[in-house]
Formats: sequence, C-alpha cells, structure tokens
Amino acid sequence: MFCLQPISSSAAKQAGFPGEVHETPGGGVVLSKLDDLINWARSNSLWPLTFATSCCGIEMMAVASAKYDFSRFGFEVARASPRQADVIIIAGTIVNKMAPVLKRLYDQMADPKYVIAMGACAISGGPFFYNTYSVIKGADHIIPVDVYIAGCPPRPEALLHALITLQEKIKKGYTREQIRQGSNS
Ligand code: SF4
Repeated sequence: MFCLQPISSSAAKQAGFPGEVHETPGGGVVLSKLDDLINWARSNSLWPLTFATSCCGIEMMAVASAKYDFSRFGFEVARASPRQADVIIIAGTIVNKMAPVLKRLYDQMADPKYVIAMGACAISGGPFFYNTYSVIKGADHIIPVDVYIAGCPPRPEALLHALITLQEKIKKGYTREQIRQGSNS
C-alpha cells in the first residue's frame, strides 16, 4: 500500500486518483497500491509518436487541433523521437521501403510501448492491397499492433475513442497481450 497526504477527497475524485481517501481534519489520506498509481500516471501521460505516411495522417492531425483537442486527455505531447514516445500511431500506407524504418522506430521506443494502426492501409494495405506490389498488407506484418481503427480514413472521433480506450485499459493494469485480445474484464 502507498500513502500520500494531505489531499481532499473531491480533488482525488476529480483527478481519478486510484485508491481510497480517508478524511482527516487537515484534508485526507489516500491509500493506494503503487502499481495502481504507476498505471494511473502512465495512462494520463501517453506521448504519441506520429507516423503519418498518407491521407489518414490529416485526420490524425485534426485530433490535435482545437476542435478535437486530444490534449484534454493527456496526449498532447506528440514526439518526433521514438525514445520519448509511448504509443506510435501509424496513419497511412506502409510501403516496402518504409517497413525497416517503422521497425527501427518501434525498436527504439522504450517499454512499455503501444501501437495503433489507424485506417485500412495500416490495418491491411487498404485500397492498395490488390493493385500494387510495393504496399505492406498491414503494419502487423512488421511490428505487433495493439489497437486497430477501421475506416478509410477513420474519423478523428474514432482515433480519440481508441486513445481513450487504450488509456482506460492501461489504467486498469492490462498487459499488452490483454489489450490485444480485447479483454474487457
Ligand atoms: S486508409 Fe484510406 S484515407 Fe487512410 S491512408 Fe489509406 S487510402 Fe488514405
């Protein structure tokens, strides 16, 4: 168990702080497990590595704009360096020449790390599946993918939903395997 003080129960509730708040005259005492605290902190600071290779990238950029504003949920620190990122968002077509680049970026990310395949191209090669030899038939041929977002392109709301769902599962302490299997328990 882990103990912090002082904190009011309303402040703890508002922050979604894990654990129980025990009221005292000077505020409150939070009792929580260290694992829960780490998962809570981690889920609220998922830094995305953007990997936009074509049109889906425009929708991904829209999620960062004022209208959708993913900073409301803690994702605003988009990184250009894999060493500072927690989740890579693959938004667009992956061609054979890009495959080793994607693999290298993924390998450079520190654990724990997550992968989102946004759109038909990142999932399966999309509309280019049938008529070109140069397109990879899905990012999961190169690296493990945790979350798939259907669409051509998916709407910004779909990416927001995926990020928030991933956040919730990390908060609950799910492993990558559990996230991939779509576990809801
Ligand atoms: S899924 Fe559709 S919108 Fe997205 S990159 Fe492929 S062709 Fe473009």
